[in-house]
Amino acid sequence: MENHLQTKDWGLGLNREHLIIAGPCSAETPEQIEKVCLDMKEANAVPDVFRAGIWKPRTRPGSFEGIGEDGLKWMEIVRHHLNIPITTEVGNTAHVESALKHGVDILWIGARTTVNPFAVQEIADALKGVDIPVMVKNPMNPDLELWRGALERLQAVGVNKLAAIHRGFSDAYDKKFRNKPNWSMPIHLKRLWKGMQVINDPSHIVGNRTGILETAQRAINFGLDGLMIETHHDPDNAWSDAKQQVTPRQLREILDQIDFKHTLQ
Ligand code: PEP
Ligand code: MN
Repeated sequence: MENHLQTKDWGLGLNREHLIIAGPCSAETPEQIEKVCLDMKEANAVPDVFRAGIWKPRTRPGSFEGIGEDGLKWMEIVRHHLNIPITTEVGNTAHVESALKHGVDILWIGARTTVNPFAVQEIADALKGVDIPVMVKNPMNPDLELWRGALERLQAVGVNKLAAIHRGFSDAYDKKFRNKPNWSMPIHLKRLWKGMQVINDPSHIVGNRTGILETAQRAINFGLDGLMIETHHDPDNAWSDAKQQVTPRQLREILDQIDFKHTLQ
């Protein structure tokens, strides 16, 4: 399979081999989106792709479930200030239709959706004949076949711009990670599926700001192809995942400290 999610040098000045995706866990307000973009510019931390969750699949009801379709209109703000592709999570066919209508450039399927083959199949069917890249997060549970199966369902309907996102796996007993990395899973996926780009999401693996650098470096050491790092202008007051988001300045510092040339033999 061809590697379609090519990185472009949007100003990070790193190397062109790793895709950097950043942006808030959730789109909250137009002002928030604008501030994140301006702070990214100011910190010289403009990523290759801007992420923002519009529909949020929360584990329990009662927390912020996403701003919904209105938030997609604010993506114009990102285009205006940063001129980079935008990605958001879709969990059903209505999300897909709405995202396509508003010109979202790249879709991703979240960990709570990847576990459900019916849901993935519905999304795949809605994407028949649509030329858009799709990234698939690993399922909540450490099941490589389920992850691979979701990617195959998309491939089977003709989606050929595919990437995987490694965001770790639920483990109630693990104290260090919000979602345990199980590094053998992304490594194995890359071996099984030649050319599959696997992007690491240290934010959801670690669950707090302080461990992001260490996990991101491990991902690069293991040969993963990029990083998705949740970035917010005011992380402590974010409407979701407040503990793990970093400021654009911190994003820049993290990226500056990563040795992108490192590889394990
Ligand atoms: C997210 O990216 O904000 C998210 C909800 O991710 P995950 O599906 O990995 O939990
Ligand atoms: Mn999040």
